[in-house]
Amino acid sequence: VKKQRIDKVLSSIGYGTRKEIKDYLKRGYITVNGEVIKQAKTHVDPYEDVIKVNDEEINYREFVYIMLNKPQGVISATYDNLHETVVDLLEDEFRVFEPFPVGRLDKDTEGLLIITNDGKLSHEVLSPKKHVPKTYYAHIDGHVTDIHVKKFKEGVYIDEDYKTLPADLRVLEGGPTSKIEVTIHEGKFHQVKRMFKAIGMEVVYLKRIQMGRLKIDESLELGEYREITKEEIELLK
Ligand code: URA
Repeated sequence: VKKQRIDKVLSSIGYGTRKEIKDYLKRGYITVNGEVIKQAKTHVDPYEDVIKVNDEEINYREFVYIMLNKPQGVISATYDNLHETVVDLLEDEFRVFEPFPVGRLDKDTEGLLIITNDGKLSHEVLSPKKHVPKTYYAHIDGHVTDIHVKKFKEGVYIDEDYKTLPADLRVLEGGPTSKIEVTIHEGKFHQVKRMFKAIGMEVVYLKRIQMGRLKIDESLELGEYREITKEEIELLK
């Protein structure tokens, strides 16, 4: 890694503005490999050098990877002048990385959403060529039966001229309101809702529970999030 100015390193991970960090340096709050550093232009290797602010070692990283259990009512965007966004839910220590959601969930959809500033990962997960599977749990207004399972297996027309890829539909509970899980391999706009509309039914509740091999952490309440591990990131691909 190229060495970078200490003020830049610290501000990039949320320790304050360059000006504020200059002030901390002057006051002697910052050490590099045990030595007090006072010059903002000091170059450091953020991965190799031991950098401490107020005696606490920093956790330097270029990328953040967050799993959010998205609640209803917030939109999958970084900025919106009307509605709260998923990025608004994050604390400043994560927002300084300028993360964005990997794909979108509708405003009224809940569940697994990855938020990162790693454009390469986002591209890999969303690439139509990769067909990374996504699994949803849903409540459907209507009796979902084996007939519909078979229809989804064959693909359904969500547009006059667009037939979806085969999707795996599992009926968990039949009845006037059915509980189902469905796994799709593409990510068209409102895809799950449109697939059910295509068979004459309506999705009344929708939650994403898995992307690739990564399942939502059930201990996260709606609106809660946590960083994911390297191993979990691999499960997304
Ligand atoms: N399909 C939908 O219809 N909505 C979502 O939010 C995700 C998949």
